[in-house]
Amino acid sequence: MKNMIFIGAQGAGKGTYADVIKAKFDIPHISTGDMFREAIKDETPLGVEAKKHIDGGNLVPDELTIKLVEERLSRDDCKEGFILDGFPRTLPQAQALDKITEITQVVFLEVTEDVIMQRLGGRIQCRKCSKIFHKTNMPPKVEGVCDVCGGELYTRDDDRPEAIKKRLAIFQEQTAPLMDFYEKKGVVVHVDSNDPIPSEVVKDIMKKIE
Ligand code: AMP
Repeated sequence: MKNMIFIGAQGAGKGTYADVIKAKFDIPHISTGDMFREAIKDETPLGVEAKKHIDGGNLVPDELTIKLVEERLSRDDCKEGFILDGFPRTLPQAQALDKITEITQVVFLEVTEDVIMQRLGGRIQCRKCSKIFHKTNMPPKVEGVCDVCGGELYTRDDDRPEAIKKRLAIFQEQTAPLMDFYEKKGVVVHVDSNDPIPSEVVKDIMKKIE
């Protein structure tokens, strides 16, 4: 069973690496950020509520987020494992997750602030399938168009510099203490995610989780 969490600051590459690793184990990649963006696009009640918090660079309330994840993890495709990306982000979320299921590994992607600013500044994402590209590090074949599904690529509102700074402060304040929680359980592996070559980071992750 591979019940994994990918933790790291924004721009650490959680989404990018989770996408590669999920294919290797044939387990779903569950990104709460993507789920919220989907709900916002579809204008569901959850989306309308989440949007108020996300647009300001704030976290969506725990209760709402935990319910969303609990429902997702109860589905059949999570039986052999999953990769959680962007959840848990607070201690109450981690404690709630503990009651839902057992986490076997936490991959902590470590990255410095200058690398974060460089990566997020150029990040573009597909509106349709959520695939992530980068204007210079990982450009699409055709500018503004997703290689995978042909959808439109855009810069997320929360990737603007003011929002990035706020999100990083929130990460330090609320998410970093989660590491203590998981270190005590002895399930954390540390991966240096500053390496500009994605395949090297993937190799390191695989070595540490297998
Ligand atoms: P992400 O794509 O993971 O950076 O998430 C984008 C935004 O969605 C975050 O800045 C939060 O506002 C919200 N969000 C995603 N995951 C969570 C979570 N676990 N708890 C609270 N808010 C979240």
